[in-house]
Amino acid sequence: MQFEHTDKVKALIARLEAFMDAHIYPNEDAYHHFVHDPANLWQEWPGMEDLKAKARAEGLWNLFLPHEYGEFSPGLTNLEYAPLAEIMGRVPWSSQVFNCSAPDTGNMEVLAKYGSPEQQAQWLTPLLNGEIRSAYVMTEPQVASSDATNLELTILPDGDDYVLNGRKWWISGAMHPRCDLFLVMGKTLLDNPRHAQHSTIIVPRSTPGVTIVRNQTVFGSMNSPGGECELKFENVRVPKSNLILGEGRGFEIAQGRLGPGRIHHCMRSIGQAQRALEIMARRVENRVAFGKKLSDQSSIRQDVARSYCEIEMARLLTFKAADQMDRYGNKVAKDLIAAIKVVAPQMAQTIADRALQAHGGMGVSDDTPIAYFFTLNRYLRIADGPDEVHMSQLGKQKIREYNQQNAR
Ligand SMILES: Cc1cc2nc3c(=O)[nH]c(=O)nc-3n(C[C@H](O)[C@H](O)[C@H](O)COP(=O)(O)OP(=O)(O)OC[C@H]3O[C@@H](n4cnc5c(N)ncnc54)[C@H](O)[C@@H]3O)c2cc1C
Repeated sequence: MQFEHTDKVKALIARLEAFMDAHIYPNEDAYHHFVHDPANLWQEWPGMEDLKAKARAEGLWNLFLPHEYGEFSPGLTNLEYAPLAEIMGRVPWSSQVFNCSAPDTGNMEVLAKYGSPEQQAQWLTPLLNGEIRSAYVMTEPQVASSDATNLELTILPDGDDYVLNGRKWWISGAMHPRCDLFLVMGKTLLDNPRHAQHSTIIVPRSTPGVTIVRNQTVFGSMNSPGGECELKFENVRVPKSNLILGEGRGFEIAQGRLGPGRIHHCMRSIGQAQRALEIMARRVENRVAFGKKLSDQSSIRQDVARSYCEIEMARLLTFKAADQMDRYGNKVAKDLIAAIKVVAPQMAQTIADRALQAHGGMGVSDDTPIAYFFTLNRYLRIADGPDEVHMSQLGKQKIREYNQQNAR
């Protein structure tokens, strides 16, 4: 067991931190004010392309893509990527600067892993170049989508095409001005067993019949420039060559996509928790109430200590899950991925809550990133599968496993 990063990772951490110090933290206020100004709704912050070009020139690009994707990948393992994603997570929008942001990363992995050479040339290459963005289109308003076998949108063959009909909602990034591509999951083989009915297909956003029904808010925010949207698909026609992998293979693709996507979110959540704790530590050292610095109150010290312990636990669990993914594949690592998906956002939400409380009224404002970290991690406990679903599957698996062992 090795508890130190390799020299290669230490060097990357130093380069990424230097980039964050030079280009990301100094732009946080400008970014925040731009995207929250209603006049700029659905527009990208003007500094983004310049920072992307700088990050790419410095080799801080597509770091998320695991080493097995050869020519597409900068060659990092999941374990090597984990501390880098944590650093990016400290400023959530910064992931896009390094072409490492959700939902593009998961979609790129799908296309790299399962896409045909033609699909890769048309869609993966511009995604890897950061020229376009994408959305993953799964959840539906009329069915409980945490059980994806419920999904009802139809993807049915008709001549040389597939035709899509149905509704989706909570689709992140669909409003982004560069979003050109939807990966849509729906039903094709209606008479097959429940896990073999669904397919995943590429739908260019501009295809006739795709309508944005409304923009959905998250705790009152439009989340511009990407947003969350409810979508209607009405006789949407795309060529058969847009189907990924084959009819009825949608679950296979969703599993392949969500494993890495989930752990990336967790890595970033740890970055948010760590930053919230650091901001809290500085605040309590400089604030005096009832004749004492807040940092001299034992309840505050306990909050800091407990938060430190919880971050360390979650970070180690993330590293372990990432290491298992690298050694044995996402399928074998699924229990640890489920565990960290439950642990990390909950931990980050709790720590943001403590940091928020220690700031008094300022905590709920946008004067620090803490309130955003709180809401972001709250919804991450629902997005990519609610906590209860992961715990239900994990609990079932552990009960089965421990009953198969000899009683000791
Ligand atoms: C901000 C945000 C962004 C999102 N982005 C995307 C996106 O880009 N693309 C996309 O397709 N979807 C996206 N989603 C949707 C998200 O993945 C779904 O909301 C989630 O999978 C839950 O599905 P549902 O909303 O239909 O809830 P339901 O399936 O109706 O479940 C509701 C609740 O029931 C409970 N529950 C469910 N199953 C169990 C169980 N087995 N045991 C106990 N309790 C249970 C859970 O508490 C769950 O939260 C996003 C959601 C949010 C909030």
